[in-house]
Amino acid sequence: MKEYHGKSVYKGIAMGPALVLHSKDQQVKRTRIEDAETELARLEQAKQASKEQLQRLYEKAMKEVGETSAAIFEVHQMMLEDEDYLESIENIVRTEMINAEYAVALTGDNFSQMFASMEDDYMRARAADIKDISERLVRNLLGYADMDFSQIPPSVIVADDLTPSETVQMDKKKMLAFVTVHGSSNSHTSILARMMNIPALIGVPVSIDEIENGTEVIVDGAEGKAIFDPDEDIREKAKEQIREAEEKQRLLQDMKGKENVTLDGRKVNLYANIGSVSDVGYALENDAGGIGLFRSEFLYLGRNDFPSEEEQFQAYKQVVQTMGEKKVIIRTLDIGADKQADYFNLGKEDNPALGYRAIRICLTQTEIFKTQLRALLRAAVYGNLSIMYPMIIAPEEVKQIYGIVSEVEEELKCKDIPYRLPEQGIMIETPAAVMVSDELAELVDFFSIGTNDLTQYTLAIDRQNEKLDAFYNPHHRAILRMIEMVVNNAHKAGKWAGICGELGADPELTETFLKMSVDELSVAPSMILNLREKIRETRVTN
Ligand code: PEP
Ligand code: MG
Repeated sequence: MKEYHGKSVYKGIAMGPALVLHSKDQQVKRTRIEDAETELARLEQAKQASKEQLQRLYEKAMKEVGETSAAIFEVHQMMLEDEDYLESIENIVRTEMINAEYAVALTGDNFSQMFASMEDDYMRARAADIKDISERLVRNLLGYADMDFSQIPPSVIVADDLTPSETVQMDKKKMLAFVTVHGSSNSHTSILARMMNIPALIGVPVSIDEIENGTEVIVDGAEGKAIFDPDEDIREKAKEQIREAEEKQRLLQDMKGKENVTLDGRKVNLYANIGSVSDVGYALENDAGGIGLFRSEFLYLGRNDFPSEEEQFQAYKQVVQTMGEKKVIIRTLDIGADKQADYFNLGKEDNPALGYRAIRICLTQTEIFKTQLRALLRAAVYGNLSIMYPMIIAPEEVKQIYGIVSEVEEELKCKDIPYRLPEQGIMIETPAAVMVSDELAELVDFFSIGTNDLTQYTLAIDRQNEKLDAFYNPHHRAILRMIEMVVNNAHKAGKWAGICGELGADPELTETFLKMSVDELSVAPSMILNLREKIRETRVTN
């Protein structure tokens, strides 16, 4: 038995087998081999395993997103049989007598560079695919777990760190808890854990190379500890705690169908934050009054190319139709900073959080933005959809957005495609937006305060930097004053204002927010019933 301590980002307790995930950016070691034939047999086995994984991904994508998006996994299977590619690997192994992993990584680099320098757009785009299949082959040669969890039981995910594009590919039904060596409590992995109501520990000093897949782990979010290979008495105690937690959850179900109203009659909307179409289930299960933040960028992550207008339209339509008359606020693409997708070719930046991200990409690469806007305006016909723009710093940006939206409307009108221009709001997540919120309120239909970024930019604390967790005070008066100012400015202009950052779910601030007359709190689905209970016990007038 081995016990480790870490920082808890979500409470709760879970027990299950470990699934160790190794980082995609692993350095492949070059080692000398004795026998080329044995090495090539290993390569053949890894190739077969890769093809089987790709076939499963193909079938899953066919079911979930359709033929067009699934086709890439067929292409990858074919690429794995490419004679030139395989010949290059084999030659390196035989002539240099080195390990297959290294030969694959070297060939992958050479071929992807060759494709990247081609004239033809289609061929150039294949560079990312070569990289992808080579990484898959290397992972299989090293015996690392695949992101496709279809063959494994529900597990505790143990990793060095997890990127949003990695978590988006995981099957949520198979995740019992997260344990990571690095990561910060404001990262999207932590947000995901809260959304799914599973315990998560970060900063756990385990050596992941020493942990075997399948080792039993207890993750105790309340105590901030992870116990690997626990003794029998500890296991029994954990089982009892899991039963108690389930009972508490069952009691909370009483809150379903009840109003979000204080003892003295102040009402507030309680909405859910989601990151994918399938998360709508969590929102409904927890009786959310609507979706206050659909992080649409997750549709763009964990893939090799942009999602098409049709694919996005289907996703948005499905969410609004499932939610019926309830409001669904879809935030336009907020890529950049920690949410990276290779095919955007954003390049390396010294200060990514202060860099080329979100609306800045949309306002400069307008074709990407227009594709999303077309999908949104078309989906708005099917339900109560609102659009929200992230990372705004000035009224001029909103005017520029409206210009692009008008062009999109014109295009749809000309082609006789049914659409509806829905309510449009912005996120207030920069101090600049707070300071000009009086002017912004005149232009938009609503505000939603993104306290995660607002705190990062106000306190000058990179939300990804785990070394700064101790300095990160989300209750800082500067933030609370800003929230009050934004709500007042919205109300003066007759608009509504909500909070969709993690702070909205903090029960210690519920009374404060209600006293400020915040109109909506959009939180992780798992927090809704807890907050409703809290609101119903609160009094806002003295
Ligand atoms: C925020 O910044 O508070 C927010 C809700 O957006 P995200 O966490 O996706 O950056
Ligand atoms: Mg944000």
